[in-house]
Amino acid sequence: MSDPIAAARADGRTLLTEVESKQLLHDAGITVTQARLATSADEAVAAAEEFGYPAVLKVVSGDIAHKSDVGGVELGLGDGDAVRAAYDRIMAAVKAAEPDAHVGGVSVQQMADPGVEVIIGMTTDPQFGPVLAFGLGGIMVEVLKDVAFRIVPLEPRDAGQIVREIKGYPVLEGVRGQPGADIDALESMILEVSAFAEAHPEIAELDLNPVFARPDGAIAVDARVVLAEA
Ligand code: ADP
Ligand code: MG
Repeated sequence: MSDPIAAARADGRTLLTEVESKQLLHDAGITVTQARLATSADEAVAAAEEFGYPAVLKVVSGDIAHKSDVGGVELGLGDGDAVRAAYDRIMAAVKAAEPDAHVGGVSVQQMADPGVEVIIGMTTDPQFGPVLAFGLGGIMVEVLKDVAFRIVPLEPRDAGQIVREIKGYPVLEGVRGQPGADIDALESMILEVSAFAEAHPEIAELDLNPVFARPDGAIAVDARVVLAEA
């Protein structure tokens, strides 16, 4: 397999695509929905057949940070016809929302079984270096700033603390009949991401958003890697 970091550097890019980001994370042993780039509806169908249905299609563009905001994410596609139709809808929606964006195609992956949506991120602090962030997905992080931080590298004890420090922790334990999340799996993923960040000082920013924290494990369904300026 090609090296996504070398490929981005060769293009003068610091932002890796979802497909490239997930390849790096997968190679590091982190559980992700593996994604493949498709540059036509036919290629998208072929990839979906291989990964298995239901499938997910997402726009691939270095000019688009939030794919769902521009109609660039299509979930729960049950067969080849649905994939074809979704491919066309994404291309039309993105062209309408971002006419100047360069679109490289779509990423194809399998639907993951749902779980509590959490975020595992890493940013580089000018003083402390890489810092890992953990929180619940969606408004909990964006609006309520319910996030906990630890300096990389984390010890197992830190992973246990960062998960329990957020106000939303009871959601992970399970509320109102909702199943709880596999906290051990979540802590393991946090430690894997810390080790990954430590092993890659050339990575400035990392976002696994969201990770599905499920009763039987954790899986990242979206990922974004940003390199430091060369
Ligand atoms: P973006 O953050 O760029 O809008 P995402 O890839 O995070 O796009 O997709 C948006 C939402 O779609 C996610 O928050 C998640 O709820 C859902 N989603 C994305 N990929 C999958 C997948 N493989 N399986 C199930 N749900 C998914
Ligand atoms: Mg996302």
